[in-house]
Amino acid sequence: MTQPTPVSGERGRDVSLVFDRVTKKYGRVTAVDNISFSIPKGSLVTLLGPSGCGKSTILRMIAGLETVTEGRILLNGEDVTRQSAIERNVSMVFQSYALFPHMTVLENVAYGLTVSGMAKREASQRAIEGLGLVGLADYGPRLPSELSGGQQQRVAVARALVLEPQVLLLDEPLSNLDTKLRRRVRDEIRGIQLKLNLTAVYVTHDQEEAMAVSDQIIVMNKQRIVQHAPPRELFENPADEFVADFICNANLVSGEAKRNEAGRSECVIGGVTASIPDRQARLGDIRVAVRPDAIRLFGDAGKHSLNGEVVYASFLGTEMQYTLRTPLGELFVRSDEVADPYPLGSRVGIGFADRGLAIVGTLK
Ligand code: ADP
Ligand code: MG
Repeated sequence: MTQPTPVSGERGRDVSLVFDRVTKKYGRVTAVDNISFSIPKGSLVTLLGPSGCGKSTILRMIAGLETVTEGRILLNGEDVTRQSAIERNVSMVFQSYALFPHMTVLENVAYGLTVSGMAKREASQRAIEGLGLVGLADYGPRLPSELSGGQQQRVAVARALVLEPQVLLLDEPLSNLDTKLRRRVRDEIRGIQLKLNLTAVYVTHDQEEAMAVSDQIIVMNKQRIVQHAPPRELFENPADEFVADFICNANLVSGEAKRNEAGRSECVIGGVTASIPDRQARLGDIRVAVRPDAIRLFGDAGKHSLNGEVVYASFLGTEMQYTLRTPLGELFVRSDEVADPYPLGSRVGIGFADRGLAIVGTLK
């Protein structure tokens, strides 16, 4: 057996939640494969990845609703791997709200407190404060069915908050809400987390939602972590093709890195020269992620070494989206020049912006 990694010392003291080489198996199915990460106190970290990659299983293991097959989980330095759900000081907000329909909003929020032995009056008082935090102070006497979806989810958040958890877990909390409400509830959750300095683990498969709420994002694919970084770092420096595609909707093309100086590589992509940051100084045949907003289009196609034909064009109010057929393959392009768009079938010259290109691998 390998020795567990030590998590004590100066830094360990600020770390609220640690996953140390955790694996979860259901029979022969591996749901989570040898995952390690740590989450500092007072930060919101998002698990982001496609359906089935293991996000909910991780939350359920943190909550103690699921056993761990291998590895250990530490909460504020204490090994909680074998603790039951009730022994751990964490609470979870579910996608489906999971409110009791026959109880009032106030009773729903107070429920966890009374179950854990608090006197009814004090529990009610705390529940009223919790409802105040989510902007629903006056809604206590109502039944859940008398609230909108967004309000119900805020009640679920209040119910989790009043338990004053060491870690707040949120599993796709916005999935059942309309697009417009989603942004509001999202901002409210982030606002409360910042105000109360809560440690939170948030799960979503939506990259924009993840970018908006997170201090750090853990990108997962096929039961493993592929990159753990702040949103900006992920966006500007995706670790591989999967992250580039998933986070930035990037185009993946081939090119050649000619030379590297001071952390930047001079690359040729489809005959166009581009300067791309690359600390690893990879030379030769490379794979490049090109963000849709990093492609420049020109009407005077003949003057440019790389050309494309517009095969789709959509007007989205503040931007145009194009699909181009090019020698590099199909390229997806977003352009904020909406006044005079390129028509279907037209030929355009193609260039690259200074930012928005990243080397994501070499060609074997
Ligand atoms: P996510 O939340 O990222 O969509 P899950 O954590 O729910 O993914 O599931 C990860 C993997 O584990 C999936 O392949 C899923 O089918 C499998 N899995 C989850 N729960 C169970 C279970 N109770 N029994 C068997 N397999 C499961
Ligand atoms: Mg899930």
